[in-house]
Parts: sequence; structure tokens; C-alpha cells
Amino acid sequence: MNPLEETKRQIAQNLQNIKETLQNIPHREDITLLAATKTISPEWINYATETLGITDIGENKVQELLEKYDRLQKENVNIHFIGHLQTNKVKYIIDKVYMIHSLDSLKLAEEINKQAAKKNIIMKTLIEINIGHEENKSGIFPENLPSFLEQLTSFDHINVCGLMTMAPVCEKKEDYSKYFAKTYKLFIDNRGKKLHNIDIHILSMGMSDSYVQAVEEGATIIRLGTALFGKRNYPKKEN
Ligand SMILES: *Cc1c(COP(=O)(O)O)cnc(C)c1O
Repeated sequence: MNPLEETKRQIAQNLQNIKETLQNIPHREDITLLAATKTISPEWINYATETLGITDIGENKVQELLEKYDRLQKENVNIHFIGHLQTNKVKYIIDKVYMIHSLDSLKLAEEINKQAAKKNIIMKTLIEINIGHEENKSGIFPENLPSFLEQLTSFDHINVCGLMTMAPVCEKKEDYSKYFAKTYKLFIDNRGKKLHNIDIHILSMGMSDSYVQAVEEGATIIRLGTALFGKRNYPKKEN
């Protein structure tokens, strides 16, 4: 088999393994598998969407998304933005993405609202929760969520659809379960809240090494890179 066919076969096999794993664990919610596509070329991303039925993909860097954008197959595909988003870059992606998972400050909300208004769209967003209270990580602390939600009701061009979290890196899988259970509780406590522009029904959590725990604890979107595409070949540094 030539290398291109071999890569495709491997991605298809990985997806099959993920689906089997998902079938064998208890679910609290329906699951959407989002393919995290950083460092993956459009060729493989398009194979995943056109041939394997992946409906949702996510990039985490603005520059990388823009570089790949024209070559991505977009029909019936939702492109999510899942990484940290700098305020000054919102304008480049506002009309290219379906949902932003990383709303983590009032300043960012103001900018998303402003840029979305210019394009006359309503941007779907998830609020990033810093569930481990990690100082070097972005995200709203869980105890600040209710007041943050109140503040977001004033933005007519933002629709808050739910929560997203990146759990701290854990050595033991049980520790992931603990963080995800905490996030799920926060999700449940705020789901169905009657606030203007706010309809919390999505919970994005779990990556390749933690998606089983995330699904068990109530994720509705899992974000998988390595488990689907294999280990990333990080480009070598040029000297
Ligand atoms: C890369 C990335 C993922 C997927 O990570 P894997 O460990 O490769 O599955 C999920 N979410 C975000 C925000 C990412 O940047």
C-alpha cells in the first residue's frame, strides 16, 4: 500500500477503535466527536469529513486556521475554534467559524460581539471553565460563572451555548473523572437558566487521553486529535 493510502487506512481504523470504545462505556449525554486538527494537513482533514463522516472539526490557532481555510472541505462541516483566542484576532475568524469554545473574558466577549455585529451574525460560544483553578491557564473560575453569565446577557451578537474545559494534566485517570464530574455539575446547575442570549446545552470536555472519563461524566462534545490522526509530527525547528 502506498503511504497515502496507509495513512487513510490508519485514520479510518483509529476512528473505528474510538467508536467501539464509545459503544462500551456508559453515556449521560449524546456525544459529538470533534476532530482536533492542529498540525494535520487539509488532505487528511477532508478525508475525515468527506469519507469518514466527521461533522465537526476544531483548530486552536488563528494563523493555522487561516492557512488551511481555503483548502478545507466545508459542506456539512462545522469548523470550531477551540484554542485560546486573542482579542485582536477575533476579526480574522468571526465569519469562518461555527462556534468559539474559548470565551474566557469580558473583553473577549465585547470584541466577539462587536465583530459579529459588523457581519450581522450571532456567534455561538462556549465559556471556558478553568476547573482546576490553574493560574497559568485561561478560563473562568467555576465560582465566577453565574456573574459572568449575567454580564454576557447584554451582548446581542453572542449566543452562549454551553461550557468547555481543559482538565489539568492528570497522572491517574480517576483524577480526570473528578474534574469532569465537577464541570458536569456546573453544567447541570446552569443548564436551562432563563437568561437573554444564554442557552446552556453543550459541554465540551475530554481529549485523547481522557475522553472515556469525559463521556462517563457527561460530555456532549469530545475533542480528539491524537486518538484520531495519530501522533502529531511536529515540524523540525529550522536552525
Ligand atoms: C489539541 C487539542 C485537543 C486534542 O488533543 P489530543 O490530546 O491530541 O486529543 C483538544 N482540545 C484542544 C483545545 C486542543 O488544542
